[in-house]
Amino acid sequence: MKTIEDINIQGKKVIIRCDFNVPIKNGVIADDNRIKESLKTIKYALEKNAKVILMSHLGRVESEEDKTKNTLLPVAKRLEELLGKKVNFIPKTRDVEKELEQINFGEIALLENTRHEDFPVKKESKNDEELAKHWASLANVFINDAFGTSHRAHASNVGIASNLPSAFGFLVKKELEMLDKLEESKKPLTVILGGAKVSDKITLIENLLKKADYILIGGGMANTFVKAMGHEVGKSLVDDESLEFCKRILSEKSNKLIIPIDFRVATEISENSTSEIYDRENLSENSICLDIGPKTEALFIEYLEKSNTVVWNGPVGMFELENFAKGTKNIAEFLSKSNIKTIIGGGDTAAAVIKMGFKDSFAHISTGGGASIEMLEGKMLPGIEIIKK
Ligand code: AMP
Repeated sequence: MKTIEDINIQGKKVIIRCDFNVPIKNGVIADDNRIKESLKTIKYALEKNAKVILMSHLGRVESEEDKTKNTLLPVAKRLEELLGKKVNFIPKTRDVEKELEQINFGEIALLENTRHEDFPVKKESKNDEELAKHWASLANVFINDAFGTSHRAHASNVGIASNLPSAFGFLVKKELEMLDKLEESKKPLTVILGGAKVSDKITLIENLLKKADYILIGGGMANTFVKAMGHEVGKSLVDDESLEFCKRILSEKSNKLIIPIDFRVATEISENSTSEIYDRENLSENSICLDIGPKTEALFIEYLEKSNTVVWNGPVGMFELENFAKGTKNIAEFLSKSNIKTIIGGGDTAAAVIKMGFKDSFAHISTGGGASIEMLEGKMLPGIEIIKK
């Protein structure tokens, strides 16, 4: 693995592709975890007296309105606070040579959201060759530190890497070490899978069944398994197209798959919905299962206690509603207090555990939801492969 420490960046112009795709509401950054995680690489490049050119995408850009909305200006400000150093925000995505000339070595520039190059014509997301060459011409070295986008072949990762000497930043290195070597992690390995639909995670489940000792199923996807076992699940979210898949793997791998035995149930989905606890045999046609129940929590913890490594992908309940966040919170709390090596697979699970105050309790919280899933599925990530090659 070629990292920023294996490439000469001393006194060079260095593009660092970061993942600053953070949630921003009314100009305020709701979660700056990804910005914080990128500091190590940026600081290292500054120590080497590099001229640091930061690039990132932010949300999708499909209209002029999106361009105004999805600007990296708030990120520049937050980064400045975190680094205690000026971040020269350049509100453009190309033709920035003059602006960059004004910036000294040992200083930082941040270009505008790379996806501004997706409207009116998709160039960034289509890995447009001319755009990639233009960006590459701005620097001598390229560092990919955006793990969250490495499952996509875009101009600002694969494109630039095809045109410049490239290496990984510390964030990507850490992500790869955690996920790449999962097979070598101490067994038993238990995976907690939650989230909404089974169909999104079929390949993931099949691949994980080969590696993991146990898979604990929670969240909306548990409903589909419970229905596949022949139980009534009422008005719960069910992914009917995955019922046959669930039946098949339940019959083949029942010793590895742990399905909830009880649920926290609502009769409507709203902020004020109250929760009642039902065993899975007692659900009615009006039931909406929104969280695992206490017996299931105890069952899951029994398996977690036997484990040395845990990978967690997907909240086990609709954690956005307070009454249905208990399962996710109790499991997070148990893991945070244990000595089990726990890897949180990004996306909603990362958001949930950070919001619940468990950020520093885990071995690793991935910054890439989709990217970490694709890695666990055994897929090659183009943003990683291009540099490994
Ligand atoms: P995913 O993007 O597939 O990981 O799904 C995450 C979403 O699943 C979160 O927004 C949760 O609210 C939702 N979710 C978790 N449990 C349930 C449930 N029992 N019913 C419906 N949605 C759920």
